[in-house]
Amino acid sequence: MTDISPTPAMPAANAARRSFNELPLSLGILATLQQLEYLTMTPIQAASLPIALAGHDLIAQAKTGSGKTAAFALALLTRLNPRRFAVQAMVLCPTRELADQVTQEIRRLARFADNIKIVTLCGGTTMRPQMSSLEHGAHIVVGTPGRIMDHLQRGSLKLDALNTLVLDEADRMLDMGFYDDIAFVSKQCPPDRQTLLFSATYPDGITRLARQFLRKPQEVKLLEQHEGSKIRQRFYEVNHEERLQAVGILLKHYRPVSTLAFCNTKQQCRDLLDVLKSQGFHALTLNGDLEQRERDQVLIQFANRSCSVLVATDLAARGLDISQLEAVINIDITPDPEIHIHRIGRTGRADEAGWALSLCSPTDMPRVAAIAQMMGSEPEWHDLGALKSSKDSPLVPPMATLQILGGRKEKIRPGDVLGALTGEAGFTREQVGKITVNDQSTYVAVVRSIAREAARKLSAGKVKGKTVKVRVLED
Ligand code: ADP
Ligand code: MG
Repeated sequence: MTDISPTPAMPAANAARRSFNELPLSLGILATLQQLEYLTMTPIQAASLPIALAGHDLIAQAKTGSGKTAAFALALLTRLNPRRFAVQAMVLCPTRELADQVTQEIRRLARFADNIKIVTLCGGTTMRPQMSSLEHGAHIVVGTPGRIMDHLQRGSLKLDALNTLVLDEADRMLDMGFYDDIAFVSKQCPPDRQTLLFSATYPDGITRLARQFLRKPQEVKLLEQHEGSKIRQRFYEVNHEERLQAVGILLKHYRPVSTLAFCNTKQQCRDLLDVLKSQGFHALTLNGDLEQRERDQVLIQFANRSCSVLVATDLAARGLDISQLEAVINIDITPDPEIHIHRIGRTGRADEAGWALSLCSPTDMPRVAAIAQMMGSEPEWHDLGALKSSKDSPLVPPMATLQILGGRKEKIRPGDVLGALTGEAGFTREQVGKITVNDQSTYVAVVRSIAREAARKLSAGKVKGKTVKVRVLED
């Protein structure tokens, strides 16, 4: 790491929880942060925001879920001039889901100024609507490198006013082979822009990328807090045949509301899904074969607590931001101990405890030993047989998801849906969960027991003055 780091990596993990008030942020932004209940900075925010707000280039490394999005969003929003109708900030992300998540987070943080336009540019949808959104003027662009490159080549996206370029999940973009696309896009940006690079890990490619496209970057590294007391890790020995059945036993015993179940292969994901469904669990899977709309629906249902188990491979699950996750179950032990630590780090976030449960066949033992060595702690073995007797009632998610056909295109906002449910339909606020508005659909989580009635009443009444089609999503 020769010429890229004028300052030594900062042990950000040691930073105390500090208030946003000590940063040079506008009153509007500070008020928004209060509303969002972002009361103190996360460690990576505390370490990187002062650098980013001072205008320096930055390389920031911290694990998934540590608050990296707000770290760059607050920096780019601070620099933005809403009265200037040109693209001033651009965020490159590896996938559409991540781009959507980033867009949503920036939108929430940009609430203080309602005239900031953010456009998402990703593949998998037609160019035309994106081109017309750009024609109408955008301040911030979020998207995948390939699609952004497309727009640059067609001349539908101009970057001469760009102040801030963000490379989010840079390691993942490199894994996906986006180096050349990122290089192409970076070369189209004004040379005096600020570049902020965020990454969960630090492979060699990052150094190369930083050398080529960042100017005297400062570096912030949040050392992963292994096996914090919040993650309770247990290993269960199983033989190969009982592996999939064992998952249901764990679920019935621990009864987590949301569980992410990791498989090493896509085939195993399919097999596990079949087993769980036949046992009556509400489970969904995420894999590359799904259409974009199906993927969106899976993620929404899982995040809003209307699906108990999400079965996924590491690739499918990377970067997903699911804040409340009571358990991670490893169906296999991954050969790479770092991946294991990454997997289990998704539970036990914020101040809540989480379970990390791993199924392990005799041939997996050397892998467990490698994990124990890296984590510097002895594995805690438990006996599956001891759990078998539990005869609990079925594990049912607390919520169910209603899909309303109609979304941002119809100018539906979360408040309209909440209003319809709590107004004429007569439900209480407490019976309504997360509301997600996409371009063409709106998804609302409601307490499972009222789902059908709520769907019926919504269809019979009106949302935003219009009759809408509503259905309960099956899982
Ligand atoms: P990362 O990009 O590091 O994976 P995210 O930016 O997606 O993490 O943030 C993870 C979660 O933490 C999000 O749900 C976000 O709303 C929340 N969050 C971010 N910053 C704060 C904060 N300062 N206080 C409370 N919650 C926060
Ligand atoms: Mg992120």
